[in-house]
Amino acid sequence: MTVMELVNPATAEVFADVEMLDAAAVDRAVTDAQRAQRSWAGSTPASRGMALRAFAAAVEAHRRELADLEVTNSGHPLGQAMWEADHVRDVLTFYSATPERLAGRQIPVSGGVDITFAEPIGVVGVITPWNFPMTIASWGFGPALAAGNAVIVKPAEWTPLTSIRLAELAVESGLPEGLLQVLPGRGDVVGEAIIGHPGIGKVVFTGSTRTGRRVMEQAAQSVKQVTLELGGKSANIVFADSDVARAAATAPYGVFDNAGQDCCARSRILVQRSIYDEFMERLEPAVAGVRVGDPRDDGTEMGPLVSRPHWEKVASYVPDGAPVAFRGSAPDGPGFWFPPTVLTPQPDDRSVREEIFGPVVTVQAFDDEAQAVAMANDSAYGLSGSIWTENLSRAMRVSRAVASGNLSVNSHSAVRYSTPFGGYKQSGIGRELGPDAPSAFTETKNVFIAVGPDPQAEGTS
Ligand code: ADP
Repeated sequence: MTVMELVNPATAEVFADVEMLDAAAVDRAVTDAQRAQRSWAGSTPASRGMALRAFAAAVEAHRRELADLEVTNSGHPLGQAMWEADHVRDVLTFYSATPERLAGRQIPVSGGVDITFAEPIGVVGVITPWNFPMTIASWGFGPALAAGNAVIVKPAEWTPLTSIRLAELAVESGLPEGLLQVLPGRGDVVGEAIIGHPGIGKVVFTGSTRTGRRVMEQAAQSVKQVTLELGGKSANIVFADSDVARAAATAPYGVFDNAGQDCCARSRILVQRSIYDEFMERLEPAVAGVRVGDPRDDGTEMGPLVSRPHWEKVASYVPDGAPVAFRGSAPDGPGFWFPPTVLTPQPDDRSVREEIFGPVVTVQAFDDEAQAVAMANDSAYGLSGSIWTENLSRAMRVSRAVASGNLSVNSHSAVRYSTPFGGYKQSGIGRELGPDAPSAFTETKNVFIAVGPDPQAEGTS
């Protein structure tokens, strides 16, 4: 039996371990999931809606417990972890309306009646990363369950605990045993077994672009559907005609939330040259003001990085002699602490081009709107981004011109469960959340019923 030791990122101490499963466990899980899915899809739409609301209520009742698990396992600040537990509840509540609304269509045809059915795929695999373990799991299992599927989640190696607890809460709240299962294990063992399993019809993967490419290659072997939510290197574009004070005050939170371990992090700040000096003068105290510390404290805004290996990776972007403009603070002592860091590198520096996934932001100047758009789009990624301007026409023009799936004007809005989320270019394929997400977990079945050109001849009157 392989065991993974789980480390508290704030103390660097091992606090629990978890059994890492193997491919045989995936086989067993799929058999159980198929059985559960048949009874789930066979139950009434109203009862499925009620069951999802009961699951949401169980999450609500255990929100503090789930948040505490995430604080210890992932180093998330308590306030953020509470938001995450509430977000899971909201995702389930939002999609609890789906079973009674997932209607097909009736399409005009000659000679008969044509109707479509939105049928469940069957068993869906959801492979999640370590940065937002419970919320990202719910983006997969919420709409997938609502569309009548069973779901098998493989959490990231370092951060399985909230997902494991959510699957227990699903059963405690009355969902059929086996309908939502969580299988901790290695990506190249359990993850690959899920992708290769003939009993699983779709895989939702969230993680790095490098691994996402591999997931897509493997899924191609069995022509399996994939949704991929991958990396980002998003721009925060600040125009001279913006509320510069607000743009500077909020910029740290657009990138340093979750210690920058966020695929939506606005990790490239682009500032119009005429306000560059003013912006930097305002940004410095804002960065210094980010409260970095014990994630268990209510007021903490930023915790540690998730692990020692990840700390090493982030640190490699700030070598000795790096063009550091200024830095915030971080606690000394054990734990994987990294202070918020602002760099002013050359455009071709790897800190400008690669996803760092830590609290490191680059700042570059631009001269006009066309250059801002060109710089924002000069990336293999296209996940999110922000645009700061008081000029509505400019806001619309730039929103349409930036090749990215999720843009915010005069804000760094977090993901909303009611709106679609996903990336352009190498940031992914498909969309999660929003009103259409359940459809991504269905097969469309088209049925034509011949009525005949002559009702008399068919024996009807
Ligand atoms: P990171 O963000 O640390 O680079 P990855 O993108 O590699 O992580 O991992 C995201 C998720 O994908 C994790 O649950 C991980 O275990 C899983 N994973 C890693 N490699 C594979 C693989 N070859 N097949 C399927 N899943 C994988």
